[in-house]
Amino acid sequence: MTQNLKIQTHAERLMALEPQLVIWRRHLHQHPEVSFQEHQTAAYIAGELRGMRGLEVSQLTPTSVLAICRGTRPGKTVLLRADIDALPMSEENSFEFVSQNPGSMHACGHDGHTAILLGVAQLVSEQSDWDGELRMIFQHAEEQSPGGTEELVFASALMDGVDVVTGLHLNSQLPVGVVAVRPGAFMAAPDNIYITILGRGGHAAHPEEAVDPIVVGAQVVTNLQHIVSRGVSALDSLVVSVTYFQAGTTTNVIPDRAELKGTVRSFDPELRERAPAMIERVVRGVCEAHGAKYEYRYENGYRPLINDDGVAEVLRQVALEVVGEERTVLAKPTMGGEDFSAYLEKAPGAYFNVGSRNDGLESGFPHHHPRFTIDEAALRTGVEMMYAAAIRLAKG
Ligand SMILES: [Zn+2]
Ligand SMILES: [Zn+2]
Repeated sequence: MTQNLKIQTHAERLMALEPQLVIWRRHLHQHPEVSFQEHQTAAYIAGELRGMRGLEVSQLTPTSVLAICRGTRPGKTVLLRADIDALPMSEENSFEFVSQNPGSMHACGHDGHTAILLGVAQLVSEQSDWDGELRMIFQHAEEQSPGGTEELVFASALMDGVDVVTGLHLNSQLPVGVVAVRPGAFMAAPDNIYITILGRGGHAAHPEEAVDPIVVGAQVVTNLQHIVSRGVSALDSLVVSVTYFQAGTTTNVIPDRAELKGTVRSFDPELRERAPAMIERVVRGVCEAHGAKYEYRYENGYRPLINDDGVAEVLRQVALEVVGEERTVLAKPTMGGEDFSAYLEKAPGAYFNVGSRNDGLESGFPHHHPRFTIDEAALRTGVEMMYAAAIRLAKG
């Protein structure tokens, strides 16, 4: 009779969870939904959570899901975050669980993040012997500015009473099983620029009678590169990339306008504040030199992601226990952006990476690549990290 009363160890619970993590991740991978459209995704997540014991499940916005679990003793309130949205792009993988929604793909690993947080929810729901309160937020719309955090962090009660926050991103450039943590500045502020060069159209055989916005726009693009190479200290980080240049219709017409778009990435708030004027000065100067006019808009994106030193240290300690010293590394700062930074406006916290690269499984494609995928062994590492970090951080 004793076998019925057998209490599972943590390791046994984790092992039992592994096949379920793969089922969750593959279901989500097969049914991707882009930012603000995650209706089926949210319904699926809520359904899975409602099947677990002891969770309060609610929806603060139409396409996000919140699960709250309370320990038996008082402690801190810890927010754990997973992003759940996919990207508007076509998948080029050939495994049996490829996207069934043409034009949508989980190419950033958010399917994995969601499976990991569902796994953490399952583990905490199976036991009550811990302190504090865990809020698990399955957040919509990370990939599209202004991001789901505007609604959740700034327009809902989600963050009321939260003491500390953490979350992770799988990383296809790190070997599977490696955990990367960094105190301080980790990810950049990703801002956008929109420039229209207003020239004067005409016959391509008589450019002297026109103001060619393509030639002026080309000068703007090359001159913008001088901002980073000549206008900013080599010790500060700034990226200015023009990523879109659209003009003209045919071979013998000089168009009257050219549309340019791009991204500006920075860490330092002072440099970020200077960037819009530095860019406009170049646009204005080049346009004036060639008799063109312009329209210019600078749009602030997510905040830079600055980890709290103390929380980052707790995560590093947890990583040492979960994956060992050899697999715990100092994360490199990245010029990529992340709306997780919004949570850090309201509570101290830290964001970390879990490696998902396995060259044998071809899971080393960059994020947002049409063949992006993960080594699913990373799901278990993610669960172990998030679970252990949450329990540690919630201790009163
Ligand atoms: Zn992404
Ligand atoms: Zn992502």
